[in-house]
Amino acid sequence: MTEKKCLLEYDLAELKQLITDIGEKGYRAGQIYKELHLGQEFANMTALSKALRERLESEFIAQPVRIIKSLKSVDGTEKFLFALCDGNVIEGVLMKYKYGYTLCVSTQVGCRMGCAFCASGLNGLVRNLTPSEILGEVICANKYLEGGLGEKRKIINIVMMGSGEPLDNYDNVIKFLKLVSAPDGINVSPRNISLSTSGIVPKMYDLAQENVHVNLTVSLHSPFDDARQKIMPVAKAYSIKQILDACANYFDKTGRRYIFEYVLIKGDTDTPKHAEALIKLLKGRPCHVNLIRLNEVKEKDLKTVTDKEAYRFLGLLEKGGLSATLRRRMGVDIDGACGQLRQRYLEENQ
Ligand code: SAH
Ligand code: SF4
Repeated sequence: MTEKKCLLEYDLAELKQLITDIGEKGYRAGQIYKELHLGQEFANMTALSKALRERLESEFIAQPVRIIKSLKSVDGTEKFLFALCDGNVIEGVLMKYKYGYTLCVSTQVGCRMGCAFCASGLNGLVRNLTPSEILGEVICANKYLEGGLGEKRKIINIVMMGSGEPLDNYDNVIKFLKLVSAPDGINVSPRNISLSTSGIVPKMYDLAQENVHVNLTVSLHSPFDDARQKIMPVAKAYSIKQILDACANYFDKTGRRYIFEYVLIKGDTDTPKHAEALIKLLKGRPCHVNLIRLNEVKEKDLKTVTDKEAYRFLGLLEKGGLSATLRRRMGVDIDGACGQLRQRYLEENQ
């Protein structure tokens, strides 16, 4: 990482302190904060004196993330490759819905959880993203859409479903949540933010204690512990029972219904036996099941299901009394699965 600190890491009170400490008037902090969250570099903050701009430039980074590539799918989904100051790249996906845009952000460069179907974990974990880098992804995309702050923002929802395991980068993710929901910035409410985890149980309990109540999503992918362990190494550390208890605690503490993601892999997770076991496991719980058709990753030997098979599985869950949906296929033509675009970029640029 570069030596300079990123100013986006400061909340407004911290920034005021910093600005007065360097001998400037406190109200400047508000101006700088606003410009930073709009995605501006110091050089463009023309309301500031040239001397102050140069001073900030020499000591701090304004924007830690920039878009180096964007790919638009025929279905309107757009995928970004973001560059970080140290040369690492991460990816984000923008999805357009009737009510606005949802941005899927990465929380780590790579991932160390090693799930069998996922491209993000192919080369392990490179490093954690800082709070300002995760925020930087949102700021970049919002600027790209010509969005402003608060009510004028274009990003309405955020999902932490890009590369990385958010609960493996816990402190930075919590700080990010505070920054992105701060009233003077982009101000996305925690109600409109989903955190997806592979099921790191102790951190799920920690999350329930925080005062940012995000939507909790857990990647379940199998109702059987032994089969789950084969596709998700983290399952060796935490059983499905432990995950369900942690979800129940999250509901008790926050009143928020939780979501299970369930990836349909042909032969491995999509049989009637799986549906039956899922129903038994989840029926009566305040939860929702989100089925995802596997996005095939060329490095992995797993096959996806046909639409017909996916709808059949969905039908079984619904018949069994579960609340369930099949996720819309998005951006399949642009390496839609998490980590695929970055993987291809790494291959091409090695
Ligand atoms: N690490 C977190 C969040 C990032 S992954 C987690 O695992 O939950 C976001 C979601 O994408 C997870 O549910 C993950 O299982 C799913 N996913 C990963 N690779 C996929 C693929 N090739 N096809 C479909 N879904 C995939
Ligand atoms: Fe990591 Fe999530 Fe991919 Fe598993 S699915 S390797 S936890 S990013």
